[in-house]
Amino acid sequence: MQLYKKCLERGFNFVKKPLYENIFNTEFNIDFHEPKKDQCTTCESYRNYNEVDKKQLKESYNKHLRDKNLSREQKEKDAEDAKTEKNKIVTVYDLQAVLPTPPGEVSSFYYKSKLATYNFTVYNIVPKQRYCNVWSEHCAKRGAN
Ligand SMILES: [Zn+2]
Repeated sequence: MQLYKKCLERGFNFVKKPLYENIFNTEFNIDFHEPKKDQCTTCESYRNYNEVDKKQLKESYNKHLRDKNLSREQKEKDAEDAKTEKNKIVTVYDLQAVLPTPPGEVSSFYYKSKLATYNFTVYNIVPKQRYCNVWSEHCAKRGAN
């Protein structure tokens, strides 16, 4: 959709949005979808405890929730500050789950070794710029290097 918006902003000739989506979805084997959010281990574990354990862990779980909210509030405050302070940048980043390459659901693929491809995304919040750093296991592994 951003590509569509960019065409509009730059004054290129364009078709209406439903036609764009139809061509994009039917002629390019590419689809729009909302990426799955990572699940927090602490929250997920707490949800799976029985009621007795939940009672015992309630205090530490509530602290976890307070910390999570504090962290979000701080990020929003930092992003707000970065709008006016030129020397401040606020980024969020994530290493996506391994992308087996080539992708496919064909059963004969199941027994084949696939190349592990990684995507480390950095999002600069204020100018809304995304950087995807993509590499495969032949270049490097998942570590900080
Ligand atoms: Zn959590």
